Amino acid sequence: MDPLSPLGRNEDCWCGSGRKYKRCHGNHRPASQSGAPVPEDPDDGTYISPGSVLAHDAMSIPDGGAPLTMPTGEPTAKPITYTSWDQELVAVAKTSDPPLRPRDLGRLRAEVIRHIAAHPADESEPADEIKQGLFYLAAESLRTVNALAATDPKPSILWNEELDPAAFIGRTLLLADHVAMPDGVFEVLLRRGTNRSLSRAAVKQLAIAELIETGLVIPVPVGVAMAVNGAGAAALTALDLKDPSLVSWVRDQLIIEGPTAREALFVRVADDLSTVAEKFWLHGHIDAESLTADGRFTTKMLQHYDPGYDYGPWIKQVSDDAVSYYVQRTNERLVTADVFGAEFVSASMFEARLLARNKRGRDSGPAHAAVWADVPQLPDLAGRELVKVIQNEDAVEDLRRQVRASLVTARTPGERTDALTALAHELEGASRRLERTARSDRAWQAAVPAGLGVASLVLGAISGGLLPVAAGALGVAGGIAPYLGARINARREAAYLFVTARRSRR
Ligand SMILES: [Zn+2]
Repeated sequence: MDPLSPLGRNEDCWCGSGRKYKRCHGNHRPASQSGAPVPEDPDDGTYISPGSVLAHDAMSIPDGGAPLTMPTGEPTAKPITYTSWDQELVAVAKTSDPPLRPRDLGRLRAEVIRHIAAHPADESEPADEIKQGLFYLAAESLRTVNALAATDPKPSILWNEELDPAAFIGRTLLLADHVAMPDGVFEVLLRRGTNRSLSRAAVKQLAIAELIETGLVIPVPVGVAMAVNGAGAAALTALDLKDPSLVSWVRDQLIIEGPTAREALFVRVADDLSTVAEKFWLHGHIDAESLTADGRFTTKMLQHYDPGYDYGPWIKQVSDDAVSYYVQRTNERLVTADVFGAEFVSASMFEARLLARNKRGRDSGPAHAAVWADVPQLPDLAGRELVKVIQNEDAVEDLRRQVRASLVTARTPGERTDALTALAHELEGASRRLERTARSDRAWQAAVPAGLGVASLVLGAISGGLLPVAAGALGVAGGIAPYLGARINARREAAYLFVTARRSRR
């Protein structure tokens, strides 16, 4: 699949869901029509669209009022935000002690999150020792990632904020030496979460504990990146927003729902990984009478949709905002990956197209092509199963070698993706043949799950049993050994990874 060319409605969706495009990401209709009736409100919230309720305690306005920025009439970069903790982390991470190796850091993290997951979950604030522990864990994670990025030769570190890490590793054909991802547990701490929300985030991270323990996946405090180089993200955004053709392309991708019955607008973009709007806007009615000498006034929101009112200028203003939001989001992800010495690999078709247009995806590596390739088996593995597959380092090395070789002649992004799809299917086919021939061979079957140790035991048993017939035995053993040996060598071949993947899932 070429991420840059349009997809047929009946083709398989680009996200790998297995559904037809038209029934998955190809649905570009807004979720409701303007002013569509909403259900009756619950006691503690207000329906702002037929499908979403705004909880009453979800919105607050400071006593002194909220500052207002006059719209400029065009998309503009927004201020970059990060917390003082993020800034503090950068300083703490700069100490000169040698950093932990990924595996040691991973074991430490697994231990800490197991402790937090088991911690009594109540609505109180986490204890200082927990906050401190997580803070230092975040700092250590930064130091380890930093050291990895400075290693020569530099290991391949990939960055994606949206996909499940196991699926991400599988979809990128095991090309990543490490995957860095946002640390959800630390984020809860930054949002001043309770013991309950902290423990929930820890349980979620525990789902990939095996990947973390092996040092393959390294959660990092994501806000740090903006503390380090938020200015870079803002500069890239300002540059992009100066390009009229880029802006008008992004504007064309917007899918706007509303104004709803409660004067809200929900905006998403076509072919983004998320199929729901990440942001919504509320229409404010300025009460002209309320204007005071120091420039304060009141606005009313969540009013009823008025079919006679011209919402046009407001919708234009919101689309400007949405255009800059989506352009800035991708630039922030790019810069974040860069700060961690990682390569940003997007799993969103919209983003891939945006990066092709602003030329920032130009020098992308094989992982970018792999993410759009059709890779059987590997992306469906859970953490524990994936670790089993990846432990076979020789076969992983062979796979990477074959990936590099298959990309040599491919020039366009589409050709690269096709080459990798062909390779993955070839390996899948080879792995089935490997399994089929192995099925008739008891010795080989024993060797597959347990490794070489078992194979030599099996050999020993055969030659032991045949020993009484002396001369012939040696001949038989001599005949079998190279035969089995050749099969065992298969463990070094990439196809073997697909055998292990199938077996692990059963
Ligand atoms: Zn889809």
